[in-house]
Amino acid sequence: MTETSKRIAIIGAGIGGMSAAYDLINAGKHVVIYEASDHPGGLAAGFKEPHWDWSVERYYHHWFTSDKYMLGLIDELGWSDQVIFPKPISVMYYKGKFYPFDSIPAAIMYPGLGWGINKIRFGFVGLYLRLTNNWRALEKTTTDAWMRAKAGDKVYEAMWEPMMVGKFGERYAKEVNMAWMWARLHSRSTRLGTFIGGFQAFADKFAAELQRRGVEIHYEMPVQSITRQENGKLQVQFMDQAPELFDQVLVTLSPGMMAKLTPDLPKDYLSGLLSLKNMGAVVMTLSLSHALSPEGYYWYNIPKQVGFPFLSLVEHTNFLKPEYFGGDHILYIGDYLEVDHPNFQKSDEQLLAEFLPHLTKINPQFSPDWVKKVWVSKTPYAQPIPLVNHSENIPAVKTPVPGVYFASMSQVYPWDRGTNFAVEIGRRAARMMLEELKP
Ligand SMILES: Cc1cc2nc3c(=O)[nH]c(=O)nc-3n(C[C@H](O)[C@H](O)[C@H](O)COP(=O)(O)OP(=O)(O)OC[C@H]3O[C@@H](n4cnc5c(N)ncnc54)[C@H](O)[C@@H]3O)c2cc1C
Repeated sequence: MTETSKRIAIIGAGIGGMSAAYDLINAGKHVVIYEASDHPGGLAAGFKEPHWDWSVERYYHHWFTSDKYMLGLIDELGWSDQVIFPKPISVMYYKGKFYPFDSIPAAIMYPGLGWGINKIRFGFVGLYLRLTNNWRALEKTTTDAWMRAKAGDKVYEAMWEPMMVGKFGERYAKEVNMAWMWARLHSRSTRLGTFIGGFQAFADKFAAELQRRGVEIHYEMPVQSITRQENGKLQVQFMDQAPELFDQVLVTLSPGMMAKLTPDLPKDYLSGLLSLKNMGAVVMTLSLSHALSPEGYYWYNIPKQVGFPFLSLVEHTNFLKPEYFGGDHILYIGDYLEVDHPNFQKSDEQLLAEFLPHLTKINPQFSPDWVKKVWVSKTPYAQPIPLVNHSENIPAVKTPVPGVYFASMSQVYPWDRGTNFAVEIGRRAARMMLEELKP
């Protein structure tokens, strides 16, 4: 068998799987992607009404100017002119009002920290986290403990605790390690980016480019299992179609799905996968006839403690023009929840009835008849939860089953999950796979 005839299967046409496919096809391998849904993009996918020019992501998405892996890939593809970086306004809550919090002058003016020592401590902690690269020391303690010690209770409770509780729930908010917070504050920009046409436009274009280069993509083909044969080949099994044999397989699903699909994994690796924790997400998207935010704000950081039944309110059309969406105003109402939270079982109507009354707190003029259409997206795998000393628990990309590789959001630590790191881990996996195939 010649090297070029090696067959590689990739499970999942998300950004990670497609990034791996790009390097593997460019290295002359035979690459086949199997995707359960009918479109590429995974968690970053979007949808489009017939009268919209752009798609809307099912879960709000943007890039940071520091997303070097994603922006580097787009550059290699020659599409950098299709990335835009508007500067929308993010706001923080304080005593019933929202204040811009997206620049140093805005942070200085924010009243939630007063004018004395707290503002200085906030500034120093932010600066320290921007400058240090020593995340390994920070993962030994929790965000809660580190921030209380360094920034003080008042600063932590005003600035970061609401986000921790919102993202990780009461159960995990105090347990997440400080390296997670470091990763967020270390390199994120206030300018936010997207692809012209939306993330789905990028995913579609990327998938089409992969196919042009020779990658086979099979949609609506959920993989049921991956097993190693006596001859060393890997058999990929589907629900209805005949199984296929490959030399290597890369899985880009959640750790739980990886454990289910791959019965040959040894006990140690398997228990490592199953011990990883994550939050799910429930995100409602509404198209409205009017703008909601009277001030034109984009991202509302909302402390749940003050009685909102959601974590974030994001007016997409204060980031991108309503004209891209046929004049509709697009609003997201989002939350990270434990996977057994009742919201996963509620109907769209029930969720809408719970959420709508709170929109008058943002705009007293809001009326339910502004709502034109509602979509709800739910995923059990949205945000990995990194506990203390998490680096010891990251499953290896090269699994103990020869030829089987695993690249997921749970392994990009210390970085927080995101499409940028899906590109990084997808390409890292591809490099390792190519290395193994070297004669
Ligand atoms: C609420 C939310 C907000 C986010 N915001 C941002 C943001 O602002 N910016 C950003 O960059 N990132 C953001 N992310 C993260 C980003 O979406 C992910 O990091 C990235 O998309 C992960 O890509 P992936 O390829 O690793 O996995 P996925 O996108 O999960 O891809 C896996 C693919 O596998 C498919 N699949 C599942 N089971 C099977 C099966 N049995 N057989 C075949 N295929 C299967 C799935 O359909 C999916 O297409 C956000 C995520 C969430 C949930």
